[in-house]
Amino acid sequence: MANFSTFDFAGKKALVRVDFNVPLNEEGKITDDTRIRGAMPTLKKVLADGGSLVIMSHMGKPKGKVNPKLSLGQIVGAVSTALGVNVAFAPDCAHAAEAAAALKPGEALLLENLRYYPEEEGKPVGVEKDSPEYDAAKKEMKARQAEFAKTLAGYADCYVNDAFGTAHRRHASTAVVADYFDDDHKMLGLLMEKEVTAIDNVLKNAQHPFTAIIGGSKVSSKLAVIKNLLDKVDNLIIGGGMGYTFIKALGGHIGESLHEDDLMPEALNVIAAAKEKGVNLSLSVATVAGDAFSNDCNRQVVDIYNIPDGWEGMDASPASLEIWKKIILASKTILWNGPVGVFEFDNFAVGTGEIAKYVAEATQNGAYSLVGGGDSVAAVNKFGLADKVSYVSTGGGAMLEAIEGKVLPGVAAIKGE
Ligand code: AMP
Repeated sequence: MANFSTFDFAGKKALVRVDFNVPLNEEGKITDDTRIRGAMPTLKKVLADGGSLVIMSHMGKPKGKVNPKLSLGQIVGAVSTALGVNVAFAPDCAHAAEAAAALKPGEALLLENLRYYPEEEGKPVGVEKDSPEYDAAKKEMKARQAEFAKTLAGYADCYVNDAFGTAHRRHASTAVVADYFDDDHKMLGLLMEKEVTAIDNVLKNAQHPFTAIIGGSKVSSKLAVIKNLLDKVDNLIIGGGMGYTFIKALGGHIGESLHEDDLMPEALNVIAAAKEKGVNLSLSVATVAGDAFSNDCNRQVVDIYNIPDGWEGMDASPASLEIWKKIILASKTILWNGPVGVFEFDNFAVGTGEIAKYVAEATQNGAYSLVGGGDSVAAVNKFGLADKVSYVSTGGGAMLEAIEGKVLPGVAAIKGE
């Protein structure tokens, strides 16, 4: 793998996979340009060196078909403004060889949505998974995917992957394309490097005590994360909706609280494994319960093991927060994924806001903190604390798979792991 920061792009064409999957409104206007801004350091470095850019991305889920509502043509203006050069547009990503060949140093070309082609994702089209034709169709699609990736690779001299949000997918542009470049001509972009370093900082190089705060709605979506973390952390705080499955499994009465009965045995396994491994597993002791799932319902603080019928646990209580505050402030490494309450309702956002504050305070005191995965990012943003933690991950699914201990195909394709 080459090093992006020291690579000299002068006179070279760089094929850069970015994540320009930005939200658009009905008129096709960008409503949040965070992802475009996030890719700028990488793209600008190539141009500043005297290289040229072939930029590629997906947008939404067109499922292998042309869909003008998901055309990257809608964002060419915004990308040009952000980059400070007039970006050309290739309306067919698989037929852009001429436009790419014509690029001069300092110029940039944006390819149309890669997912207009089913080859990008590489999933067989129109064949059910359980049909007898599936295996043959899959094989055929893999071959087509390789051809598609080869076409993309033909546009440039080197390949840069800066799309962390799709790093957990083995797609043509995120992984397969890397096969067509030698080790000295493929690299991670600056955003990817930051993400990979942040994950390594907690999973491989953590300072102890290491605390993971796992919240959110369901145990099922975070079980693999929890299991992997049990071998690494000193403290595991489990809050939010998923906590009630643990409490019920331990014999508690949880009223109408969110829970997954089928996962109660797994919850007990986690509790036993934590004990065996010497991990301090900290569940809620009390909860702020509501008598309906709404912001304006009646509220009361109740013992977590005795939530009355007709009431559901919706936010972390002061007593739980007091315990968690001590744990978090004594930590040297913190990983936070998932809110500890229904933070979208202001009346039940207190606990999540407090956790954000403790993580920020611990960071100020020298701890390393990584916040990632969908809603916890929204939460630190909501409380204006995003710049007070060490790193906020941009990739929800990719970040979760990385903390599950999985090797991300987009990273492996470049690093050769
Ligand atoms: P996740 O995507 O799994 O991280 O879950 C995030 C969601 O969990 C947010 O929309 C929260 O509102 C929700 N959540 C957190 N705590 C609770 C709770 N006690 N009851 C219901 N939903 C919750």
